[in-house]
Amino acid sequence: MSSTNPVIVIVEDDLQICRFLRTSLSVHGFQVIEAGSGERGLVEIGTRKPELVILDLGLPGMDGIEVIHKVREWSAVPIIVLSARSQESNKIAALDSGADDYLTKPFSIGELLARIRVSLRHAAQLVGDSTETIFCLGDLQVDLTCRKVFLDEQEIHLTPLEYRLLTVLIHHAGKVLTHRQLLLQVWGPTYVEHAHYVRIYMGQLRRKLEVDPTQPRYLLTEAGIGYRLAYRE
Ligand code: CA
Repeated sequence: MSSTNPVIVIVEDDLQICRFLRTSLSVHGFQVIEAGSGERGLVEIGTRKPELVILDLGLPGMDGIEVIHKVREWSAVPIIVLSARSQESNKIAALDSGADDYLTKPFSIGELLARIRVSLRHAAQLVGDSTETIFCLGDLQVDLTCRKVFLDEQEIHLTPLEYRLLTVLIHHAGKVLTHRQLLLQVWGPTYVEHAHYVRIYMGQLRRKLEVDPTQPRYLLTEAGIGYRLAYRE
């Protein structure tokens, strides 16, 4: 295997899932390093300098959330969390701690590969120079320099707060943002308990940007967690 293939560290104690991930990701051109515990994971992430980390939350010894906190002290490597459906509060904690995305078990490999591509693309954009000032997604176009929003070439007028909410989502396009993260980035630290702000403004934004606000194609709900800006055909 070529040494230029992106390296992924998988921190997972379930051997079956490990084997499945190793096989599927190798086929798609990734170099896979496995770690069966959080402690081992930290060592592999520190020494192998992977392009991406796939992290289970329920691990023997150090748990996944603690692994995220430790990694974020010295690395911005994209982290995709794998977790069981029953651990909703853990998912929120993982995202708030600095994970980039999460997938619920059982997951499809197609979905995982799509999330990996989004995370790698996002990481590449962060290191590259950000000359890209027009954001395009489906029929949505946002000129970040002129602060103008177009849907199907029609200009859409947003209030300053609606625009701010949209740009925060654009800067994390494809990734899930928790209610807390949105409150923090759009309204500021004193508003993190005002979850209804996000609901109200997201509703307003949907009425302006979605053809059918009840069936959003851009501003997607992540039930119980937050929102994701993505395009649904
Ligand atoms: Ca586990």
